Amino acid sequence: MSLLYKRITLVVADIERSLTVYRDILGFTINYIQPSDKDSFSYPVFNIPKEADLNFATLDSPTQERTFALTEIKGVALPKQEGIHMSASVIKVDDLANVISQVKALGLHTTDVKTDENEYAEFIEQAFVDVDGHLIVLYQLMDKEFALASEMEQWVLAKRPVGLATVEDFHLVEVPIPNIEEGQALVKTLYLGVAPVMLRYMNNETEFERPLHIGDVMHGRGVGRVVESKCDAFKVGDIVQSKLRWREYAVIQDEPYYLTHTMHNTDLNLSYGVGALGMNGFTAVLGMRDICAVQPGDTVLVSGAAGSVGSMVGFIAKTLGAKTVIGIAGGEKKCRLLTEQLGYDAALDYKSPGLYEKIDKYLPEGIDVFFDNVGGELLDEVLGRINRRARIAICGRISEYLIPPEQYHRPRNLYRIGLKDAKMEGFFIYDYAKNHHEYEHQMAQWIREGKVKPYEDISVGIEHMPHALISLYQGTNGGTRMVRVDPSAH
Ligand code: NAP
Repeated sequence: MSLLYKRITLVVADIERSLTVYRDILGFTINYIQPSDKDSFSYPVFNIPKEADLNFATLDSPTQERTFALTEIKGVALPKQEGIHMSASVIKVDDLANVISQVKALGLHTTDVKTDENEYAEFIEQAFVDVDGHLIVLYQLMDKEFALASEMEQWVLAKRPVGLATVEDFHLVEVPIPNIEEGQALVKTLYLGVAPVMLRYMNNETEFERPLHIGDVMHGRGVGRVVESKCDAFKVGDIVQSKLRWREYAVIQDEPYYLTHTMHNTDLNLSYGVGALGMNGFTAVLGMRDICAVQPGDTVLVSGAAGSVGSMVGFIAKTLGAKTVIGIAGGEKKCRLLTEQLGYDAALDYKSPGLYEKIDKYLPEGIDVFFDNVGGELLDEVLGRINRRARIAICGRISEYLIPPEQYHRPRNLYRIGLKDAKMEGFFIYDYAKNHHEYEHQMAQWIREGKVKPYEDISVGIEHMPHALISLYQGTNGGTRMVRVDPSAH
């Protein structure tokens, strides 16, 4: 068998079943094509009759610069032109044995293949037939790059930060990948998120995270793939969100401390597990849908609107029927992001003068709902503008994380909570862990319907972790800031 395949599309009988192979085993990124885009994408390119009821997705290979397309055609006989009935694809993988074991677990038939000609000095290959009968040839190059890793990198705390963290507060060290014991699982980190609260971890200022000593691996949550397991709760291949910490491989246990969740919607981008389908997305749902209980016609104001949580809150408010949704962010660029990509009706720049006058101008009827990420003086000013039965969700108070308590703003307008029969509630997403899968289901549905459009800010390589964290305080991030630790992750 030759490796000289040039296949670009596979017509399949059942797109969801075929995606199981491409997405879950081979790690392809799936881009569903929206119905409105199908005309421009599929019909002319693949010569498919207009009357066909079509499901179409493109797949980006994690290992090579090639896009495959899967097309499911219903309602018409498949056209037989050259270029549509592609029947085989050749795919480079990093870990052939692992992929083949997953393929076998699906009950698919595998076979050894021999190649006559190839451009590589050394490689191994195997083939299997996917659920729709297409031959998929997998090959793995046998150079050093693909040898099984035995060492990994991790960031440890070098010293406590003074004010804002700096790169010098961390050390990147190389250590052996740990062995697991009974009851544990080894997870390969795919994505790590950063959050303002991490600065407080570095100073041991939170009650809910374990103490961080100098030399300890930095705390943090992320998304990873279980690669080894001696624990009933996690199977090899599971995609989990957990307290992985800042390291390339993590050992986790089935314990409440880790707040580990197995992701269900892995057809969507796995990076969403850090944002929209992770703690920040659920914070946005909890705050806007459950605590503020947005009603059709409400006027809504959101602070920290261009950050990870804020970038989803506006979409949710609109989806729930809010009449006007106004976001506050720092700088012109972020304000443009709010109105052009994050669903806000208008954006107010708190770094230019006259913020409170702008609030009056854009919300002349007063404020029904305030989702607050910032706290301090802004919260106080908003209290002065709330309507009867207003609802205020205290999500965060980032403006006061770096100052001592004696400098915290003392509110003057608290009395208006009683005066206006309003509600103001602080909340912490960890307390709602039991609702995790309901939040995931809700957000995944909104994403599929195009109602929530996750906005991500991704650096590639674990070496970027400190910069990613620092950017949250410098305001240079937009949406969910994260690091793709495994460059081949989708
Ligand atoms: P993020 O993505 O890190 O965004 C933070 C944004 O805050 C920055 O982009 C910056 O935007 C803004 N900011 C930074 N310093 C500020 C200051 N001094 N005054 C006003 N704004 C400032 O944040 P996130 O992850 O969305 O988190 C937002 C808030 O929610 C944080 O306070 C976090 O602690 C909290 N949170 C709470 C829960 C919960 O369970 N309650 C869960 C997750 C997060 P600008 O450039 O626009 O200033």
